[in-house]
Amino acid sequence: MSSRKVKQVVTGQATTDGAGVELVRVIGQPELMDLDPFLLLDAFRSDNPDDYIAGFPPHPHRGFETVTYLLNGKMRHQDNAGNEGVIEAGGIQWMTAGKGIVHSEMPEQQNGLLEGFQLWINLPSMYKMTTPAYQEHDATQIPTELRPGTEIRVISGETSQGTVGPVSQPLTNPLYLDVSLQAGVEFNENFAADHNAFVYVINGTVMLKDVDGVKLNLECDQLAVLGRGDSLTLRAGDQTSRLLLVAGKPLNEPVARGGPFVMNTDEEVRQAFSDYQRGNF
Ligand code: MN
Repeated sequence: MSSRKVKQVVTGQATTDGAGVELVRVIGQPELMDLDPFLLLDAFRSDNPDDYIAGFPPHPHRGFETVTYLLNGKMRHQDNAGNEGVIEAGGIQWMTAGKGIVHSEMPEQQNGLLEGFQLWINLPSMYKMTTPAYQEHDATQIPTELRPGTEIRVISGETSQGTVGPVSQPLTNPLYLDVSLQAGVEFNENFAADHNAFVYVINGTVMLKDVDGVKLNLECDQLAVLGRGDSLTLRAGDQTSRLLLVAGKPLNEPVARGGPFVMNTDEEVRQAFSDYQRGNF
């Protein structure tokens, strides 16, 4: 058995996106452009409406999936195919943009805390032009696995103790866990040894070891890229800590990015802009 060790620590960068939303970009910035199959990870967390109220007015996507997980607040989602709904605290929206969708993501609140994440997961070349689809689950549909001092919300994939998340995506087989640990509690988990994986700290301190065996203390908005291995061990620091553990099957395909479009070639990105401008989404 080999245990996964930290290959790289990435600190999220403050940035602005949409119509002026303040967020922290963790994947998709110079320190970590992508972690195949993950293309982007944004964290937003503010109780100041000025930071989020402008939201994300209508914009397109093609070629990948957007996964929105809310911890606090509400977001209204609307697309050009007539789909509409509100993502509430503890809920998940897993959108397969496929061949193209135009949607808006707007805060459904005038004040209070808005907190959550958006993760972009790539699609293999053969599925980039698939029909758009949604998997939406509110907080009550996400199972919680309890271990001593530990609470695990299972969004996607299966834990080593057999808890299965409601989202299914066989193309990349993602594991998406929201793990809360009491102070000092150790967390052990096994998952696909050949999948790329990361730990992102939501709050508290998470202690991990790097490839040289050096102990690392990760804080809020830091992400650890994990090396390969079939087990993971980490520990909460001296306060309650919370983290995302995410893993997925790498696609090993060329990535061509053009803003909201992620394809395999620049020509396919140009085609996406052209199709969007002609109203063919
Ligand atoms: Mn979007």
